[in-house]
Amino acid sequence: RREQLKLLAQQPSVSADGVHVELAANIGSIEDLMKVLENGADGVGLFRTEFIYMGRNSFPSEEEQYQIYKHVLEKLDGKRVVIRTLDIGGDKELPYLELPKESNPFLGLRALRLCLEREDLFRTQLRALLRASTSGKLNIMFPMIAVLSELREAKRILGEERAKLEQEGIAVSDAIEVGMMIEIPAAALNADHFAKEVDFFSIGTNDLIQYTMAADRMNESVAYLYQPYHPSILRLVNMVIKAGERAGIWTGMCGEMAGDQTAIPLLLGMGLNEFSMSASSVLPARELVGRLSKQEWASLSEQALTMGTQEEVQQFVEQRSQI
Ligand code: PEP
Ligand code: MG
Repeated sequence: RREQLKLLAQQPSVSADGVHVELAANIGSIEDLMKVLENGADGVGLFRTEFIYMGRNSFPSEEEQYQIYKHVLEKLDGKRVVIRTLDIGGDKELPYLELPKESNPFLGLRALRLCLEREDLFRTQLRALLRASTSGKLNIMFPMIAVLSELREAKRILGEERAKLEQEGIAVSDAIEVGMMIEIPAAALNADHFAKEVDFFSIGTNDLIQYTMAADRMNESVAYLYQPYHPSILRLVNMVIKAGERAGIWTGMCGEMAGDQTAIPLLLGMGLNEFSMSASSVLPARELVGRLSKQEWASLSEQALTMGTQEEVQQFVEQRSQI
C-alpha cells in the first residue's frame, strides 16, 4: 500500500468528479522540506516561523530570516508557500523575550497581538519576507486576528515596509498574496467583512476548536471536548468557506483537521480549496480525495451540518466514505 501511495506523489490532487484541490504541507523549519518534496505536496500551506525564534538566545536578524525564507521559496520552485508571521505567546515562549506573566496566556498577548505591540520585531520579519518574495511564490499570513482593525494595522505596516524597500531600490514581488488565519470564533462569524480585505483565508482549527469549545488544547482533562467534527465547528468552517466564495477568494485550512480522513470528505463537500497538513498525510489525503465526489459530498456535508453531535457526524461520514 505504501508503494501504491508513492506513485501518487507525482499526480495532481483531484476529486473523483474532476475538482482540483491543493494538498499542501505544514513546516516549522527548512529541515522539514525534504519530506514535503518526497511526498509530492502541492505547496507549503503553513510555515510556522516561530520555530526560527525558538531554541536560541536572541532574535534572528533580518538577514538570517531572509536566507531561510529565500531557501524555502527556492526549494518549492514556484509552488505556493504560505509563511505565517510570528505566533509566539500562548504555549510558546522565548527565553530572551520578557513578557508579563498572564493568568490566561492563550487569551492574552500572543501572535499578531504581540507583533502590533512590538512593532520592531514585526517590521524586521516583514522586511525579510518582502526581500525574499522575488525567490518564489510567497503568501504572507497573519495569525490570531479577532477584529478588522488588527488586520488593517498589520497591512498598513506591511505596506510601509514595502514602500521603504522600494525606495531603497530593493526588488519586491508584486504578486504576494496577503491572508489571515481564521482561528478565533469572532473572526469566523465576521468572515464576510474580512474576506473583502484579504487575498485568502486559512482556517486554524487547532485554535478554533479550543476557543469555540472553551477547552485548552493542551489540557488532557478536557480533551473530550476537542471535537473537530462537532456541528458547531463544522458550521463555523462552512461559514468561512462560503464567505470566501462570495468574495472570490480561496480558503485553506492548516489545523490538524485538514489532514483528518474523516474530516476531508466534509471539507471537500463544503468547498475548501486548500488542505495543509503534516507531509506524511499528503499522499493518504490525495488517495482519499481521488475516491470522493465533491458534488455528492456537497449535499452530504449539508446534512452533517444539521446534526447535533460529533458522534452522529462521525458515523455518518464513515459509513459513506469507506475510510
Ligand atoms: C491552528 O491553530 O490550527 C494552527 C494551525 O496554528 P498553531 O497550531 O500553530 O496554533
Ligand atoms: Mg493557531
